[in-house]
Amino acid sequence: MYKFGFDIDGVLTDEGNNENNIWHKSFINHFGEKVKKVSNSYDFREAYNLPDSVIEEFLIKNKDKIFSSVPPYQEAIDFLNNLKKQGHKIILITARHEEFRETTEKWLDKNNIPYDKLYHDDDKAPLALNENLKIFIDDHLDNVREIKSAGITALLFTREHNLNATEDEYTARVDNWQDIKEYIYNYYLR
Ligand SMILES: [Mg+2]
Repeated sequence: MYKFGFDIDGVLTDEGNNENNIWHKSFINHFGEKVKKVSNSYDFREAYNLPDSVIEEFLIKNKDKIFSSVPPYQEAIDFLNNLKKQGHKIILITARHEEFRETTEKWLDKNNIPYDKLYHDDDKAPLALNENLKIFIDDHLDNVREIKSAGITALLFTREHNLNATEDEYTARVDNWQDIKEYIYNYYLR
């Protein structure tokens, strides 16, 4: 039995790309067409060049709706159910604030995503160590770098905001769930 760890946003959730990204569409809805993405930063304040207070107001109004309605990757659902059937454990660690636990649990149940534990914590490396995870998959480079430094296999899920990561910062880069499946099969399930 192995414990496999996954981030939620941008890894289990299919947020869409560019103009079709669910967050971007919500920005347009909220601010109108005038809002422009000026960089691919992970941080919305930098990505949209808007002040903290404005982003804060947007997030308060929209976060719960997005977390409830974002679609998951179907391949992720199938693969996680397969891992569970084979007796492995699935540990989810999300930086979403604890106040979104109920929303998150409902979303996971609604989408038939199995898990053994769900942590709401943005300091992921100590948890990954404590849980003795074999592997963790995240799209946020800071997490991947810290988890790799802790000695755990850390896969970077490719997103617009992490394209300039350097190879020493992650164990491997994965572009989609096919890559994740291949990696896990090759290293742990053969
Ligand atoms: Mg993420």
